[in-house]
Amino acid sequence: MTAAPDITDRTTTGPAAAGAGPAVRAAVAAVVDPEIRVVTIADLGILRDVTTDPATGRVTVTITPTYTGCPAMDVIRADIRRALTAAGHPEAEVRTVFAPPWSTDWITAEGRAKLAAAGIAPPGPVRTAGPVAVPLAVRCPRCGAPDTEQISRFGSTACKALWRCRSCREPFDHVKAL
Ligand SMILES: [Zn+2]
Repeated sequence: MTAAPDITDRTTTGPAAAGAGPAVRAAVAAVVDPEIRVVTIADLGILRDVTTDPATGRVTVTITPTYTGCPAMDVIRADIRRALTAAGHPEAEVRTVFAPPWSTDWITAEGRAKLAAAGIAPPGPVRTAGPVAVPLAVRCPRCGAPDTEQISRFGSTACKALWRCRSCREPFDHVKAL
């Protein structure tokens, strides 16, 4: 029995490439968010797609910005270019797509776990199942207590709000649901 040729991992071999190989995708997915450095752009759902043109071998990365006007997006684009150049694709295109708009619901389970582990309360779900939106308690990422209060609408960055736990008294950042 002869093994089938692997057509998915030829991205780095030139114009015959048939799809973004796992190595290129992994290089892009590993780019960290410049404001919340514990999570990657894949964790946050910013990274939408990585494709390779089968005719030219040109790699196209598609991203959707988070919060409107978030200055971090320029840094993210530059970091993606750097990662692609290091992976052997200096000619790659980074495309920004605005529809559908990014939502904190796109943050992966792994991303939420990383945020919580770093002491940042992850956002709650934006869309509720019923017609009435029920405000969900923001749980303290340090002790888990639901008894928390917002101190400031803006935390260390515009994407986050500053909260405080009434139980353990520690302040913490909370990624705003959007
Ligand atoms: Zn607490």
